[in-house]
Amino acid sequence: MTEQRPGRSLTELSGLGPRMAERLERLGITTQHSLLFHLPYRYQDRTRVVAMGSLAPEQEAGCQGVVRAAEVVGRRRPMFVVRIEDGSGFLTLRFFQVRDYLKRTLQPGRGVWAFGTVRRGSVGLEMVHPEIEASGEAPPDPPSHLTPVYPLTEGLTQGRLRSWIAQALTRNRSRLPEHLPETLRAEHGWPALPDALEAVHRPDAEADVEALLAFRTPAQERLVFEELLAHHLALRKVGQQRRQARAPALTGTGSLTEGLREALPFELTGAQRRAWDEVRADLAGDRPMQRLIQGDVGSGKTVVAALAILQAVESGYQAALMAPTEILAEQHGATLKEWLEPMGLTVHWLAGSLPERERRAEADAIANGAARVVVGTHALFQKEVRFAELGLVVIDEQHRFGVHQRMALKEKGRDPHLLIMTATPIPRTLAMTAFADLEGSVIDELPPGRQPVDTVGISDARRDEVEARIRDAVAGGQQAYWVCPLVDESEMLQLEAATATHERLQAAFPELEVGLIHGRMSPEEKEAAMTAFKDGGTHLLVATPVIEVGVDVPNATLMVIEHAERMGLAQLHQLRGRVGRGSRKSACVLLYHPPLGDKAKRRIAAMRETNDGFRIAQVDLELRGPGEVLGTRQTGLEQMRIADLGRDRALVPALPRAADTLLSDDPDAADALIRRWVGERAVYGEVG
Ligand code: ADP
Ligand code: MG
Repeated sequence: MTEQRPGRSLTELSGLGPRMAERLERLGITTQHSLLFHLPYRYQDRTRVVAMGSLAPEQEAGCQGVVRAAEVVGRRRPMFVVRIEDGSGFLTLRFFQVRDYLKRTLQPGRGVWAFGTVRRGSVGLEMVHPEIEASGEAPPDPPSHLTPVYPLTEGLTQGRLRSWIAQALTRNRSRLPEHLPETLRAEHGWPALPDALEAVHRPDAEADVEALLAFRTPAQERLVFEELLAHHLALRKVGQQRRQARAPALTGTGSLTEGLREALPFELTGAQRRAWDEVRADLAGDRPMQRLIQGDVGSGKTVVAALAILQAVESGYQAALMAPTEILAEQHGATLKEWLEPMGLTVHWLAGSLPERERRAEADAIANGAARVVVGTHALFQKEVRFAELGLVVIDEQHRFGVHQRMALKEKGRDPHLLIMTATPIPRTLAMTAFADLEGSVIDELPPGRQPVDTVGISDARRDEVEARIRDAVAGGQQAYWVCPLVDESEMLQLEAATATHERLQAAFPELEVGLIHGRMSPEEKEAAMTAFKDGGTHLLVATPVIEVGVDVPNATLMVIEHAERMGLAQLHQLRGRVGRGSRKSACVLLYHPPLGDKAKRRIAAMRETNDGFRIAQVDLELRGPGEVLGTRQTGLEQMRIADLGRDRALVPALPRAADTLLSDDPDAADALIRRWVGERAVYGEVG
C-alpha cells in the first residue's frame, strides 16, 4: 500500500507531542501525510506595509513603526499598551496580558512590524494582540510571501501548524505518491504533487498574489480537482455497490396503479408521465432503484410517488414514505388516504410523537407485514422498526436526507428501491458530486391552468396595505397565509412569536377567523388547524415557517411573509409555492423591515422577477454557495478541505471523464485518492 509510507507518525515532528497529536486527531489528522493535506482555506497578505495615517477600522493590516511609549496601565486588570509611530500617524498596540518578553522587545526606540485587525480605540486606532516582530532600531521587513491560514481546533495555533507543516513538507517531499495521471496534469498545466503542496503551504515571494487569494493558481486548482475527484469517485462507489446489490423486482400488475389513474380528477402531465415511466421501469428491475425526482414546487411529485407505492404493493411488498417534518408527513398521509383508501388500502402512520403504545403497535404491524403502506418521519428508520418485506422507500425533500442516510437504508439481503423527491433543483455541478450515486428524473412542467404568483416587496411601515389585501381576498371567498418571522434557533421563541402574531392579527381582524399552526402542537391539534383551513373554517392561517413544504390548500391565494429579509431564497420560494395551486390568480407579499441589506435586496428582487425554481436556485447558489443551499452538512461534502463547489464549479464537468480514466487505468490510484481525501471507510462505499 503506497499510502502507508508517507503516513509517518506525527510525533516525529519537533514541537509535536502526544497532547498536540490528540488535538490534531480532532481535525482528522493522524499522520504526517494527512497533515500535509490539511490545507489553508485562505491567505493573509502580510507582505504589504500600510501607512498608519491611512488605516481604517476593521482592516487587517501590517504596519512598520518605532515604539514611542510603552506602559502598563490599569491596576485591577493590568494591560500593556504600546504606542508606535511611522511618520504618517500613530497606532496603539494593546495586550491584555503583561508579558516580560513583550516589555523587553517593545522598548521605546525599537523598530516594530505589527500585524492585526485595526479597531477604533479610546485614543485613535489600535490593534489588540497583534503579531509582532521587533529587532533593532529599524523596523523588521514584513514577510515576503503570503501567509496561509488553516482551519484550527481548540488548543492549536496558526504558528504551530505552520511550523509542523513546514517540517512535514521537508521530510516527505520525495515520498508523496502521485495519483493524478500524467496526461491529465499535462493537459491542465498542473504541477506534480510535492510542488503543488509546497506552493499552497509556502507560497513563494514570486507567487501570483491575486491568483492565490482567488484559489486560481495551478497548484491550488490541481488540489481542488483531486479533492472533487475523490468525492466523485467515492459516490460512484456508493452507487456501484448499490447497483451490485439485489432488490425485489416490483413488476406490478397494474391493478392498483391503473385504478388510481382512473380515479384521479386530472390527467398526468407529460412530465409526470415521463417520470413515472422511468420509475416504473426501475422498479421492475432487480437492482435497487436510486432515483432522484426534481420538480419545482407544485409540479405534482406526490402522484408519481403514490403510483410507485401502489406498484410495490401490487407486487406483494411494503412501501414507506418518509418526510422530514411531521406536518409534511401528515399532509402526505392525508393525500395518500384520500387516494388509496377507496381502493381498500390502509395507510399507516409512524412518527416520533405517537404515544409509545401506538408506536409499538405500528411497529408490530410493520414487522408482521400487516401494514403495506406506511407514512411517517425519521421514526420510520429507527432500529426498532423492522419491515417484513420492504420493497420501496420514498423520501420527500431530499436535501435533508444525505448520503449517510441513503447508505443506512441497506437491508440485510435485498435492498429496497429508493425514490427521492426534491423541489430544490440540484445544479449540475452538485448532481455530479453530491448526487453522483443517483439517477435523475425531472418534472419540468406544471399542471395546466396554473398562474404565476404575483410577488411584491412591501416595507412593514405599510402594513395597512397588506391588511387591506387580506380583507379583499377573504371578501372574494379566498384564504390567506401569514408566515411568522423566522426566530433564531429556539423553538420556544418561535412559538412565542407565532402566538403573539396570532393574537395581534385576530385583534386586527375581529370579523375573521384566524387560525394558528406551529411545530409545537400535537399532531391532533395540527390536523385540526389544517382541516379547519382546508374546509374554509378559518380565513387566515398564521404559521411558523414549518409549513414551508408540502401543504396544499388550493383556495388559499394570498401569502404574506413577515420579515422576509431574514429568509433564504429557497425557503421563500417554497413558502410561495403554497399559493397559486388553484386556477385563481395568487399573490405573495414579502413584508420586510428596512433598511434592506444587499443580499436581501437581491433575494427579494429575484422573487419578484421569477416564479421559476431553477432560476431562483441559480441566484441562491450565487448568493450563498452550494454548501448552504443544499445543507451539504448532511451529504458528506462538508468535509471538503480546499474545494468549494461554488467557486470551483468550472472544474466539475471534467470529473466524470477523469474518473473513468482512473478507474480503468489505475483503480488502485482511485482508491488511494478516496482514502486521501474522503477517508478509509469511503473506499468500501461507506461515505462518512
Ligand atoms: P409537489 O411537486 O410540490 O409535491 P404536489 O404533488 O403537492 O406538488 O401537487 C400539487 C397540486 O397539484 C396537488 O393539489 C395535486 O393534486 C395537483 N396535481 C398534481 N398533478 C396534477 C395534474 N397532472 N393536473 C392537475 N393537478 C395536479
Ligand atoms: Mg411535495
